[in-house]
Amino acid sequence: LQSNIAAAETYLEHWRDSGVQNHIAGRSVPASGGETFENTTPVDMSRLCDVARGKASDIDIAALAATQAFDTWRDVTGKDRRDILHAIADGIEDRAEEIALLESLDTGQAIRFMSKAAIRGAENFRFYADKAIEARDGKSIHAPGQMNVTSRFPLGPVGVITPWNTPFMLSTWKIAPALAAGCTVVHKPAELSPITAKILVEIAELAGLPTGVWNTVNGFGEEVGKALCEHPLIRAIAFVGESATGSAIMAQGAATLKRLHLELGGKNPVIVFEDADLERAAEAAIFMIYSLNGERCTSSSRLLVQASVYDDLTARIAKKAAAIKVGHPLDPDTVIGPLISQGHQAKVMSFFDTARAEGATIATGGERVGQTGCYVAPTLFTDANNDMAIARQEIFGPVLTAIPFKDEADALRMANDTDYGLAAYLWTNDLTRSLRMTQRLETGMIWVNSENKRHLPTPFGGVKASGIGRDGGDWSFDFYMETRNVSFAT
Ligand code: NAD
Repeated sequence: LQSNIAAAETYLEHWRDSGVQNHIAGRSVPASGGETFENTTPVDMSRLCDVARGKASDIDIAALAATQAFDTWRDVTGKDRRDILHAIADGIEDRAEEIALLESLDTGQAIRFMSKAAIRGAENFRFYADKAIEARDGKSIHAPGQMNVTSRFPLGPVGVITPWNTPFMLSTWKIAPALAAGCTVVHKPAELSPITAKILVEIAELAGLPTGVWNTVNGFGEEVGKALCEHPLIRAIAFVGESATGSAIMAQGAATLKRLHLELGGKNPVIVFEDADLERAAEAAIFMIYSLNGERCTSSSRLLVQASVYDDLTARIAKKAAAIKVGHPLDPDTVIGPLISQGHQAKVMSFFDTARAEGATIATGGERVGQTGCYVAPTLFTDANNDMAIARQEIFGPVLTAIPFKDEADALRMANDTDYGLAAYLWTNDLTRSLRMTQRLETGMIWVNSENKRHLPTPFGGVKASGIGRDGGDWSFDFYMETRNVSFAT
């Protein structure tokens, strides 16, 4: 822990001095008007650095820079785009330790997970680097006396708006395919964790990305985020964040007919039948709700368990959860660090009172940890039902609600009885049951007998209030590109 703190302090010195500036047309620039806001760490609420508080006029400048850069970037060959994206991945790997340490301090996420997230960021760039050459390919479609040929073209300058929970990894996941497609980018990082987004754009330019192709404007969602969505030069918005913000973005983008990709919240069920491997299911459920502080869109926040094994499974989970280490995010043993902010800590803890009032039992946790910092204990609620607030609202913390079900129909009804539809986790060794269930579950992704194991070529995204659109594989190119058909007559 001490050596990690010392290393993080060394990296922080630079940001304490320079602050996190905007990055437009290849230059670090203050916000117009020079306003800043303070960025603190949820470890103890101490100051990390100041951050440029961008304004709508900064979005104007960045959108213009992205538009001008698009003129040349659109025609850079697939091979050259591939080489630049690989060079960005190299740059991320070279600075992975710095990124992980700063991300941990900025977000409160444990270093054991942030080290992997930094490397995953590099993988995202490599994955889309290798797809860059074929991004524009289409197909030929024949008709009598006619041959049709399709090809894809980059949309133009696009806006990317990201949340605070795993900001570095999510930024790479949204921006790498945009660059591979030939789009230029204006990125609006989350105001609560902006440091690594600035490192990322600097790495990209050092790796050879032409200036103006990627611009970063910091600030608040209601100011710069809104201005980005409304900007006439910006052709699309790729957004990751809360469902309510997704609705606001749709409204803000309506006047300019923005193409939107929305990756939003979740209340994802993990459904455990009595024939499942209970030990594996318990370990997976624990990983999916207590890793990354439970601040994870695909977290398994509702545990639906067949009544016959409910006591057994919840007892196993309560015992394991109580043993999870909560502590300083830079401690290599820590699993749960502080939540992102005092406001979010208060929101998560408000569910403890609501749950008690609604009659749920706290099997473990249900309290804050320590007096400074935004720590809460890993929490398991039992004796819950699917109508309680803890089963319906996205808590976005290390809080699991266990609900018993009678049979398959009961499990399916409860799993789908939610506003959300991002992911579901199904535990059963009955193949025909898993086929029936996967056809009826209303979610974009289902993992059967597994936690969330991301395979980059597969589609990622949700239905209902969890979002619109898919990332991953070629799906990201469908969003960032336009398809054109040319028809030749004989
Ligand atoms: P948020 O919606 O509050 O903020 C996300 C981003 O949107 C921030 O950069 C914010 O400044 C910006 N923003 C806020 N208001 C805006 C507006 N009116 N116009 C434009 N931009 C605006 O979300 P958050 O609290 O930062 O992140 C947590 C949420 O993100 C959770 O709901 C979580 O489930 C979701 N999330 C979803 C996925 C996914 O892939 N589905 C992944 C990670 C997080």
